Amino acid sequence: MSNLDVPYKIYLDESEIPSSWYNVRADMKEKPAPLINPATHKKLRVEDMTPIFCTELAKQELDDDTAWFEIPTEIQDFYRMYRPSPLTHAVFLEKALDTPAHIFYKFEGNNTSGSHKLNSAIAQAYYAKKQGLRGVTTETGAGQWGTALSMACAFFGIECKVYMVKVSYEQKLFRREVMRTYGASVTPSPSMETKIGQKINAEHPGTTGSLGCAISEAVEVATSTEGYRYVLGSVLNQVLLHQSVIGLETKKACEKYGIKPDIIIGCAGGGSNLGGLISPFMGEKLRGEADYRIIAVEPKSCPSLTRGRYVYDFCDTGMVTPMAKMYTLGHDYIPSPNHAGGLRYHGMSPILSKLYDDGYMEATSVEQTSVFQAAEQFARTEGILPAPESSHAIRAAIDEALKCKETGEEKTIIFGLTGTGYFDMTAYESYNDGTMVDYIPTDEELEASFAKIPKIDL
Ligand SMILES: *Cc1c(COP(=O)(O)O)cnc(C)c1O
Repeated sequence: MSNLDVPYKIYLDESEIPSSWYNVRADMKEKPAPLINPATHKKLRVEDMTPIFCTELAKQELDDDTAWFEIPTEIQDFYRMYRPSPLTHAVFLEKALDTPAHIFYKFEGNNTSGSHKLNSAIAQAYYAKKQGLRGVTTETGAGQWGTALSMACAFFGIECKVYMVKVSYEQKLFRREVMRTYGASVTPSPSMETKIGQKINAEHPGTTGSLGCAISEAVEVATSTEGYRYVLGSVLNQVLLHQSVIGLETKKACEKYGIKPDIIIGCAGGGSNLGGLISPFMGEKLRGEADYRIIAVEPKSCPSLTRGRYVYDFCDTGMVTPMAKMYTLGHDYIPSPNHAGGLRYHGMSPILSKLYDDGYMEATSVEQTSVFQAAEQFARTEGILPAPESSHAIRAAIDEALKCKETGEEKTIIFGLTGTGYFDMTAYESYNDGTMVDYIPTDEELEASFAKIPKIDL
């Protein structure tokens, strides 16, 4: 069917699951800008972070130099439940597109949470347990992170309080029940249970919430509840570190079969799956050993890389978190209720922001209906029903493969298929009914939001 001599699905052996995470910052000559304290503008130290974050995770967050972190045995054991994940040669999609390109996808949806987020959730729950904590709080958008974290907390026997973006809480009842089945408590955000939730509700009556609001609530509860810390499913350096298992496995599979990617594509919400997928490839690029085109794909409704500003901003709407220098639409930006809940975040990983600003990667943005066209084509050819978030990467991969068809180039494209879309059927319903809309913010809307970003000269 294809002239490449590789299996349809490349499965590594269990013994080939990575035993260390790779920290791409170690190979960056210019490091991402440090997190700062919003009051003093001083660079954050581990002791500034430990009231909010688990100590070991705070250390990982601030470590720009250690290239490899050994994965604790307990986490490696858990990874065996659903890893290694397959790298699949999308022969059926290639055939449908009639393209000379070779398309591969790394599928991270093969676990109950349905996404890559479990890779970091299990690590964060492990460090919380090891520190003797009672529980953790977090936010969740579409619900994948909350689901992953509730699974991880159940495994280690700690409590889990999830603040779920209201629009998703109402749309995704089944996800909420999965979380509760794993023992988590789930609250729609903004709620009236926290001071910041009350404030946001008063300022934005009827708001459907955003990840930024939910983060503020989760942080408030973590810092005011004994034995609790806050954990985050994306954006942070530690999360990209844990997600490097995706890229390390992908690279090993490529090496085993002599696959040389030209283009690596991933959807980007907070940047964790893309950061994880590309990290070992980016390491080679940074060291001058190889070159790849790397493309981040974001929704046109929440275009932080393609239309945002690269400045210091808060990671949350309530301005209770440290500030990060990142591509941002402004901490107060509440994106339209796009169906890719996991991509509705105003900012972007400081690591990816820096790499993008330095020209090591590209970014593109795509409209929602074109994303669902790609999702539909992928589901009908490759069989997997993709998550709306993942389908942004599918859209870009298909577009690149179609360009190859025009030029006759036989490029190799790898994209991250981050998860499945079984809990996103209201989104598919609106696509199937033809009622889906493509919302694109105006320049004026973005300017109004940029104006609320505090000006910081460093
Ligand atoms: C959360 C999520 C994303 C986006 O988050 P990143 O941190 O940018 O990876 C993408 N796909 C799925 C399935 C998700 O759950």
